[in-house]
Amino acid sequence: MENKVIILSAPSGCGKTTILKALMARQLPLEFSVSATSRQKRDGETDGRDYYFFTPEQFMEKVDAGEFLEWNEVYAGQYYGTLLSEVDRIAGNGHHVIFDVDVKGGLSIKERFGDRALAVFVMPPSIEVLRQRLLSRGTETPESVEKRLQRADYEISFSKQFDYVLVNDDLETAISEAYNLVNGFLIQ
Ligand code: ADP
Ligand code: 5GP
Repeated sequence: MENKVIILSAPSGCGKTTILKALMARQLPLEFSVSATSRQKRDGETDGRDYYFFTPEQFMEKVDAGEFLEWNEVYAGQYYGTLLSEVDRIAGNGHHVIFDVDVKGGLSIKERFGDRALAVFVMPPSIEVLRQRLLSRGTETPESVEKRLQRADYEISFSKQFDYVLVNDDLETAISEAYNLVNGFLIQ
């Protein structure tokens, strides 16, 4: 089997993680690509499960050593990237890969994998709803919420370059739409 890749991209707070966890719970033959980041760990996050957490210096050493498939400074001073070793690990397990990455990372992975990749952009119903979701998640300071909202418009401007735009309004509807899309792509 040649493995396929699913890319979920969206501004922070649109519901990627929620949708991804729901997909993983539905027994699709997918393995989550754990990204590396230099941001602070949130309460409830585990190193090696949610992210590989590095200091900015450690992260840049890996960039210099050519260890990333892609990486980006998503927010000022906060780096995120996909380690080549992570993609190799998942392919070695014989699984398809699912990525949760920003738009730039998503489009660069799509370019790399071509027809083997399904790139899905998760869209919020509106910026105001996105603000409410970021606030209610309770993980961000007010400054961090604003930083994420400012970047949201920029990220949405890339949405047309994705294979599919999934509006996350009603969660159950979005999850079943995502499931049908991903399952259809994997079995074709
Ligand atoms: P992301 O991974 O894109 O940053 P999350 O999955 O953490 O976003 O979702 C942000 C917040 O919004 C979470 O508190 C989540 O429970 C909530 N949420 C996600 N989707 C919906 C939805 N369709 N309706 C209401 N709340 C949602
Ligand atoms: P968060 O801090 O909310 O977990 O993620 C912030 C943003 O970084 C999200 O848009 C998320 O998709 C993106 N991101 C997470 N991992 C990666 C990665 O490996 N590469 C890139 N380019 N972006 C990532």
